[in-house]
Amino acid sequence: MKTGQIQVSTENIFPIIKKFLYSDHEIFLRELVSNAVDASQKLKVLSSTGEFKGELGSLEVNVILDKEAKTLTISDRGIGMTAEEIDKYINQIAFSGAEEFVKQYEGKEGAENIIGHFGLGFYSAFMVAEKVQIRTLGRYEGAQAVQWESNGTTEYTITEIEKADRGTDIVLFITEESAEFLEKARIQGILDKYCKFLPIPVVFGTKTEYIDSPEGEKDDNGNVKRVPVDVANQVNNTTPAWTKAPIDLKDEDYKNFYRELYPMTFEEPLFHIHLNVDYPFNLTGILYFPKIKENVEIQRNKINLYSNQVFITDSVAEIVPEFLTLLHGVIDSPDIPLNVSRSYLQADGNVKKISAHITKKVADKLAEMYKKDRADFEKKWDDLKLFIEYGTLSDEKFAEKSKSFTLIKSTDATYHTFEEYVEKVKPLQTDKDNKVVILYTHDTEAHFGFVKAAKDRGYDVAILDGPLVPHWIQKMEMSNENVHFARVDADTLDKLIKKTDEIPSKLTKEDEEKLKPVFEGTVNTEKFKVEFESMSSSEAPIIITQPEFIRRMMEQQRTGGGGFFGAFPETYQLVVNSNHPKVEELLKADDVVRADKAKQLSDLALLSQGLLKGEELNKFIERSIELV
Ligand code: ADP
Repeated sequence: MKTGQIQVSTENIFPIIKKFLYSDHEIFLRELVSNAVDASQKLKVLSSTGEFKGELGSLEVNVILDKEAKTLTISDRGIGMTAEEIDKYINQIAFSGAEEFVKQYEGKEGAENIIGHFGLGFYSAFMVAEKVQIRTLGRYEGAQAVQWESNGTTEYTITEIEKADRGTDIVLFITEESAEFLEKARIQGILDKYCKFLPIPVVFGTKTEYIDSPEGEKDDNGNVKRVPVDVANQVNNTTPAWTKAPIDLKDEDYKNFYRELYPMTFEEPLFHIHLNVDYPFNLTGILYFPKIKENVEIQRNKINLYSNQVFITDSVAEIVPEFLTLLHGVIDSPDIPLNVSRSYLQADGNVKKISAHITKKVADKLAEMYKKDRADFEKKWDDLKLFIEYGTLSDEKFAEKSKSFTLIKSTDATYHTFEEYVEKVKPLQTDKDNKVVILYTHDTEAHFGFVKAAKDRGYDVAILDGPLVPHWIQKMEMSNENVHFARVDADTLDKLIKKTDEIPSKLTKEDEEKLKPVFEGTVNTEKFKVEFESMSSSEAPIIITQPEFIRRMMEQQRTGGGGFFGAFPETYQLVVNSNHPKVEELLKADDVVRADKAKQLSDLALLSQGLLKGEELNKFIERSIELV
């Protein structure tokens, strides 16, 4: 036996490592299992180059829990280490990394974020163990097995031992306070999280499976009995879909992989993108487009980031642009610096390139789908639009590309690109200032009357709904000066699309002055502003509108941003059609009848907008019953 002193100048390295290494203690298992996988893969490589001539045999990694002995062992059949190699890789190299870390970051905040730079994987074992043994047999012929042991001080021992099998066992003697890591379910959970797609089989004990009775035993109904058998509990799929070539995968394989990633999600993805880049950086992965719901927050953060098939994080906000965090799937890149601070990541050149690349790929895929099968793209539009609007608003490059596949859906169930749509409505919907006015509704039910009135004039009404529409409209107007959007209920049609020829009014100024107070007496004037307008006599006698500007401000405040003016009061216009025969009639009636009829007309207008409520609605109903 040999005892030694690990060569570091900082005495109390372990308390510092324990405190700072990783905020998440469970990470130790990821580090140790990936070391075991690395050691196994290295041996595979040495075998393929002929440097290792022995039998490879099974290379599986075993995670073994012994609750009684309070140990957790990670066992591999990889390259193993000799005493000299332990000295070099464990005592010197790993420790110099640790020492450098401690020197630079002692007492500094956020140190846990940069630790990954220092290759401290193995020492993370001391976050949960009071004693760690490395029992290992090197791959060389006639090698002597050795055991390294340390209790978390700078002292260690190396002993020669008997070990039949090539490879390394890392034995952790779990501390009292980390007793959770002696629970089977906890370990299974960690393995599922970090090790699900490692390239070497990782086995954690056994599990029970039911098979047809080998003896052919029958149950009472004459069916072959199902009997339980213990089988190896392999936690990982060593060849996940993203590591395969796209040509070897069918649509069904992508869907199956989606289910493997999100066993709790029942909805199928709309489509996928297989990423495969090797220059100027390495990146593979599969991104899925989910059906995007109004409530986008629950869908975020489902992209999992891997490095060489080791799970790193599901928080990829720094690596992909925000709008892409709505996508699901996997990104695997050994070139993304791991466990470094967020601001560092954002400034990293590789990360920036990766982000731009993914954005481009996504835009290209959408463009390709649109070109290939427009009808199918139209069918998917409702599920895609929120994502595309989001991208258009948040990323200039994407906005540029998305022009070719952003669709506008009309109330007549046809789809046009923005350009096509402008061309379509131009002949009838150009106002006197030469602006093309795009009429839209967010709710065909609620706006039924407005939509019908517009269609009766030969206008088209688009359906633009969803939380981002107010912002998207603003952006489209800014980049297309000749286009203006107006919601159908924003004003009377004559004012929404102002043409030169004005209809002469049948009411004189005096008539209007006489009627105005009468209509004002029918509503709360703080909320409703009474105005007269000379419309066609076939329009309704009173139309309630909400000015586009005020409504947009209110909407933008609700979805965040755009509001500099404090809370907006809810206000409407009560527009009286000065050419409607019913309005003319009012002039001739006596005061009492005039007031009653005006009230009935304005209540009807409010009713059609769902704005007649409570006591007023009740009174209206009672009055109407009287009339019957
Ligand atoms: P890193 O893995 O980042 O190099 P670690 O501290 O995790 O740092 O490990 C240090 C070194 O110890 C590894 O580079 C490797 O050479 C050696 N090592 C660790 N675990 C094993 C193992 N299971 N089998 C063989 N060598 C190992």
